[in-house]
Amino acid sequence: MKRAYKLRAYPRRPQEGRAVRLLADHCELYNAALAERREAWRMRNVSVSYGDQSAQLKEIRAADPDGQGRHSFTAQQQTLRRLNTVFVAYFRRVRDAKRSARRVGYPRFKPYQRFDQVLFVAGDGASWEPADGGRWAHASFQAVGRVKVHQHRPMMGRVKTLQLKQEGRRWYVIVVTETESVLLSSTGRSVGVDVGVARFLTTSDGEVVANPRFLDAAQDRIADLQRRKQRARPGSGNRRRLRRSLAKEWRRLGNKRRDFHHKTARRLVATCDTLALEDLRVAAMTKTASGSIEAPGRNVAAKAGLNRSILDAGWTQFTSILAAKAESAGRRVVLVHPGRTSIDCHACGASCDRPRQEIVVCPVHGELDADLNGARNIAARAGLGSGQASAA
Ligand SMILES: [Zn+2]
Repeated sequence: MKRAYKLRAYPRRPQEGRAVRLLADHCELYNAALAERREAWRMRNVSVSYGDQSAQLKEIRAADPDGQGRHSFTAQQQTLRRLNTVFVAYFRRVRDAKRSARRVGYPRFKPYQRFDQVLFVAGDGASWEPADGGRWAHASFQAVGRVKVHQHRPMMGRVKTLQLKQEGRRWYVIVVTETESVLLSSTGRSVGVDVGVARFLTTSDGEVVANPRFLDAAQDRIADLQRRKQRARPGSGNRRRLRRSLAKEWRRLGNKRRDFHHKTARRLVATCDTLALEDLRVAAMTKTASGSIEAPGRNVAAKAGLNRSILDAGWTQFTSILAAKAESAGRRVVLVHPGRTSIDCHACGASCDRPRQEIVVCPVHGELDADLNGARNIAARAGLGSGQASAA
């Protein structure tokens, strides 16, 4: 199984200069290879393959020792592969378009500022030194040097590739590792999992994971910055500063949330054989079609909207992290259709009232915890029975 870690890199000034040049040289290679494919097609009606272009690399490098010749051969192959992927997708679109009589744009040249990353194969033109006892991690790239990297979380598996990437003024290293999938032993526990607004998640056998505290704090800071930004004069330095702080807050929140998702998912996967979840892609569609599945109530302040969007973004990410971890551990994940899971009674199927966000009232069974009821419905839909702990 592959994992990708995106880590902030801090090149020194001269390293940054060389990294910019690396991107420019690779961009040039990419565009030259694109031009070759284009000409060959136009002049001779011949299509040029990745193999053809890769075979020419040796000559190109020899002819340009101070330019292309300085760079990693395998990294250049990756750039040619990247172009090849673009062409494969293009030919697929052309095929599809023939059926629907649409026009398809030919792959375009990349301007320098849009060519923002180069992929290296680890151990061949690039290497990785993990963080060690509070010290910086380092990534070394041919023709750039050994760059400081902030490794904010532990990494698992063998490092396969290293990508050097520029985003605005920031630099990142994306480390892709590969781990053997470790099959976990059976636990006898199978649950439905409901993700919610008031709590992060509730399982059908009654486990509750609260929303992490940092969400509230971040939400307050973001709401405050947003308000101040709206008041600031357009085009002013103040507004620009606020926009930057806002972006920083979102980024920070994103990192913390991702770590939290990984931790929570790891624990669930370790303790359950089967996990049933709502298919949130379906939920998102239903929501846009009908406004909202669960009316947010009266609290329609800006903050509620913000809260909602923070949580929405989180659920999809959590589900995909959970599914990936489950798969690599040999656990089963069942996605069920999301409609009405919280509002129908799990015991008798009757339609409940929902006087408050956290409670539903069944005409037969009375007051039920809304999230727990939801989790039990999800378990039932996945064919796990009620998903409650079996009686000893
Ligand atoms: Zn009932």
